[in-house]
Amino acid sequence: MTENLIIIGSGPAGLSAATYAARGNLKPLVFTGQEIGGQIALTNEVENYPGFPDGITGPELVQLMQKQAEKFGARVEMDTVTEVNLKTHPFQLKTQNGAEYAANALIIATGASPRRLNVPGERELTGRGVSYCATCDGFFFRNKEIAVVGGGDSALQEGLFLTKFASKVHVIHRRDQLRAQKILQDRARENGKINFVWNSVVKEIKGNGKVDTLVLENTQTRATSGLPVQGIFVYVGHIPNTGLFKGQLDMDEEGYLNVDARLRTNVPGVFAAGEAHDRVFRQAVVSAGYGTMAELEAEKWLAEWEHEHK
Ligand code: NAP
Repeated sequence: MTENLIIIGSGPAGLSAATYAARGNLKPLVFTGQEIGGQIALTNEVENYPGFPDGITGPELVQLMQKQAEKFGARVEMDTVTEVNLKTHPFQLKTQNGAEYAANALIIATGASPRRLNVPGERELTGRGVSYCATCDGFFFRNKEIAVVGGGDSALQEGLFLTKFASKVHVIHRRDQLRAQKILQDRARENGKINFVWNSVVKEIKGNGKVDTLVLENTQTRATSGLPVQGIFVYVGHIPNTGLFKGQLDMDEEGYLNVDARLRTNVPGVFAAGEAHDRVFRQAVVSAGYGTMAELEAEKWLAEWEHEHK
């Protein structure tokens, strides 16, 4: 059976597209990927999503989005798309669970994943003191000294969250100026548990079975030093999850999908929404907006396609 519309990804972009598509009676099928919700599900406190003046946790927000999409008939499958063929129409998809699907239209809302530091020790000690998710792992660092790497919103927001557990949070940044929003900078500077380590990069993560020391290099003097910590949380940006579409969809050198103002990719019937193409805004509310735009365009495209082919 050929689906009308398959949505790949279940972050704010995918789930808002699903709500609109379901209300448009397209009976969309959503593939969640490894976890439902994408990056926002890993965020402890969301303070700037409209409609939640007291804030909401990422997982709760995702749950509400899923409930809203399903209420109108969207089907949300806990499965990951592992192969696509966009050279035939209907488009062909295979999933991790071994199922095969065909779809007349696709919305790609695969989002982005945390960028790694790519230093010795990082891979071996992931889950043993190296983490990319404060919400998931913060609890394990009660009364411990830890480091956060990065100078953007994520580093400061998650660093502040980690002060609830850790005895000290060293924020290691490669420059002496933060990229994060002013409100987060002010909160971090006022927090007695946060210590900024400026002009520094992590060269190596050391530890025998669990993290115990970071080797830092000063970017100005090139001097190296050791920082004893038991955990390191890495927040140095993201890379788009678009490897699946290489060779089939146009993308830039970093892997962000090329789309036009109506979120159309180079393949008619394939649309993109959220951080798979957006390298600029990267906010949950913006991704939700992109999901809506992509769905409205997909709906229009499907109506025209059906008119021509049926
Ligand atoms: P980001 O804004 O891209 O910041 C990444 C940080 O990591 C930058 O400070 C960058 O340094 C540093 N960095 C990059 N590569 C590095 C490397 N190899 N080694 C050391 N440091 C490195 O990423 P983000 O903080 O994850 O934020 C992503 C997007 O989500 C942003 O648009 C942000 O506004 C949004 N966001 C919003 C909120 C909120 O509204 N509360 C919360 C979280 C995220 P430089 O500054 O020197 O480039």
